[in-house]
Amino acid sequence: MKGYAMLGIGRTGWIEKDRPVCGPLDAIVHPIAVSPCTSDVHTVWEGAIGDRHDMILGHEAVGEVVEVGAMVRDFQVGDKVIVPAITPDWGALASQAGYSMHSGGMLAGWKFSNFKDGVFAEYFHVNEADANLAHLPEGVNPVDAVMLSDMVPTGFHGVELADVQFGDDVCVIGIGPVGLMSVAAAALRGAAKLFAVGSRKVCADAALAYGATEILNYRNGDIAQQVLDKTGGRGVDRVIIAGGNAEETFGQAIRMLKPGGRIGNVNYLGSGDNVLIPRAEWGCGMGHKTIAGGLMPGGRLRMEKLVALLENGRLDTSRLITHRFNGFEHMEEALMLMKDKPRDLIKPVVIL
Ligand code: NAD
Ligand code: ZN
Repeated sequence: MKGYAMLGIGRTGWIEKDRPVCGPLDAIVHPIAVSPCTSDVHTVWEGAIGDRHDMILGHEAVGEVVEVGAMVRDFQVGDKVIVPAITPDWGALASQAGYSMHSGGMLAGWKFSNFKDGVFAEYFHVNEADANLAHLPEGVNPVDAVMLSDMVPTGFHGVELADVQFGDDVCVIGIGPVGLMSVAAAALRGAAKLFAVGSRKVCADAALAYGATEILNYRNGDIAQQVLDKTGGRGVDRVIIAGGNAEETFGQAIRMLKPGGRIGNVNYLGSGDNVLIPRAEWGCGMGHKTIAGGLMPGGRLRMEKLVALLENGRLDTSRLITHRFNGFEHMEEALMLMKDKPRDLIKPVVIL
């Protein structure tokens, strides 16, 4: 079979591989629609997970089941499925403790295009199909549903980590596709003031459509000061970090946060050895300003709950998809868009 792969750090291309083998609990899936991710860019061009050779990329897909193992109960050949980016081992102790994304070691619930071949292939393997695949409901567009693999669950997880409550004032830092889904989730959770920090018009327009009450541009000066100015010096109850960096962004988040507030970080911190937390603004260690950071939860139950939001008209992911390609041969073009981030891009999808 053909796959679009990381050949080594900084190099990608088409390769031929054997079709993956299906274990008794597993499924083999043929993609219907896939999307490249900022994480694929970190993996290839920033060496984020170390060197990989001839590893097929991609972890965001909707597909059709072409084979199931003998012990799979709830999925059959021909079923249309949503594939979560994170596919844990559900029997692991970490999963029993409530942290399935860390089953097999910290962050090891992330398997596709990390330590096994990803979804940019004619066929890919899904472990524990009954627990990790989700049925695509009739009436949900498979292209819109690709955003459920990673963008929706990650953005929503930022809001869960920050524990947004009715009437909270919230700031989302970074409004790429993940941050935009944090904006949508914070609005669903009942945020009052909802600041979205971004610089591109396409993202700002989408953020307003998803429920942001005000856009702040980080190119117009310190965003913590901007938030303080707009809240009479009080700051916000919750901050979700979905963009920025380890050196500057956490300091801004701490400074704009009220005592007792929470920060939910889903941003990947790709450089520097330390995350900088400003001592005095963190209440000299006593400010009750909590920082939580997490990898998105995967698994079927969460996927099926999130797709119910699309099915019932509570969430429209189509707005995230700014570029559509028909044909697997456009995979490289789509990935390069993600790498170069032209000003009109939120997410590309390749339809096979
Ligand atoms: P993205 O690059 O499209 O979005 C990040 C946004 O942050 C960009 O629009 C950028 O302009 C903005 N930004 C950059 N510097 C900023 C600053 N100083 N202040 C405010 N905004 C700034 O990426 P994305 O696809 O939306 O993903 C966001 C992050 O989430 C990435 O780091 C990605 O690797 C990570 N991620 C995490 C998980 C997880 O499970 N935790 C899953 C998927 C992606
Ligand atoms: Zn992704």
